[in-house]
Amino acid sequence: MAATGGRVRFNEPMRLHTTFHIGGPAEIWAEPANRQELRQLLELAREAELKVTVVGGGANLLVGDDGIPGLVVHLGSAGFQGYERRDGGILAGAGLPLEWLIRRCRQEALSGAEFLAGVPGRVGGAVRMNAGTHDDEGRVHSFSDLVRSITLMDLSGQVQSLSRDQIPFAYRRSGLEGGIVLEAALGLVPDDPDAIEERVKRLWAFKRRTQDWSAPSVGCIFKNPANAQAAGWLIDRAGLKGHRVGGAMISPTHANFIMNVGDAKAADVFALIEEVRGRVRKLFQVELDLEVQVLPNPDGVRHRGA
Ligand SMILES: Cc1cc2nc3c(=O)[nH]c(=O)nc-3n(C[C@H](O)[C@H](O)[C@H](O)COP(=O)(O)OP(=O)(O)OC[C@H]3O[C@@H](n4cnc5c(N)ncnc54)[C@H](O)[C@@H]3O)c2cc1C
Repeated sequence: MAATGGRVRFNEPMRLHTTFHIGGPAEIWAEPANRQELRQLLELAREAELKVTVVGGGANLLVGDDGIPGLVVHLGSAGFQGYERRDGGILAGAGLPLEWLIRRCRQEALSGAEFLAGVPGRVGGAVRMNAGTHDDEGRVHSFSDLVRSITLMDLSGQVQSLSRDQIPFAYRRSGLEGGIVLEAALGLVPDDPDAIEERVKRLWAFKRRTQDWSAPSVGCIFKNPANAQAAGWLIDRAGLKGHRVGGAMISPTHANFIMNVGDAKAADVFALIEEVRGRVRKLFQVELDLEVQVLPNPDGVRHRGA
């Protein structure tokens, strides 16, 4: 495929591209260098009637053992990792890792992105998931708090800009399922770099204390239900901490984390998820919804039957 200057691989194991270290092969894995190449890839996929899936840092993905059919696009090349000051904030490429975003903001003496400390992934994934967290003082933060506008490419290669109020952000959702985020304009406020650094360190320490980083995971598996206790609380009370199926285990420290403690298959994780759901349903009459994105997703971005 000439369109990507050679950054195309066939049957690429997705376990190499997910923080879970789980997942069968992507039929075609492509890392376009820039928008032009991305547009060409989408055109080729359209002609070949291939399903298109976009992935970022893979920090919220559960990829099935049979892998992902069609084209998997990863915006990880330098052409999608741009960063520039814009209107007092910054314009960040979708492929920019959140860790770099935090570092660049500190260098530019801009505050607001510190809450992303300890949230793995990239800007595009954070927009799409509306990544968020609460801090060590109990304040809730979401990526949508930062977004002023985004640039989106649809599957026909058309690019449009959406302002913050045109994006239906909600808890862990953005309503952007049909498009590819290219960049995001973020609103930030000036602050002292040392004070920013201090907050980042404190939040990192808080994450390390409250989450489980002992083995590969995707962070929280389930969303917190709207009208019930947090998912982790429910799973803990159901007595499931440490419960294991194959190589997948409910974290003994954070019950909403499933850890890959030994070459887990996606099938192990799915089985564990169903057990958790069943126990929580039976004990608390609460239906747990997944936060992790399952691929291939029958409702995801696709050409065929779209
Ligand atoms: C240890 C650990 C801790 C975590 N803690 C948190 C936390 O505190 N808060 C939180 O919210 N999350 C947390 N997560 C989950 C994860 O960090 C976030 O969901 C993050 O936003 C995922 O970004 P990503 O780039 O890795 O996206 P991916 O996992 O690659 O993709 C996630 C979704 O976004 C889509 N997507 C990716 N890039 C684009 C793009 N450019 N355009 C359109 N769609 C795209 C994908 O198709 C997929 O549906 C944690 C994960 C781990 C492993």
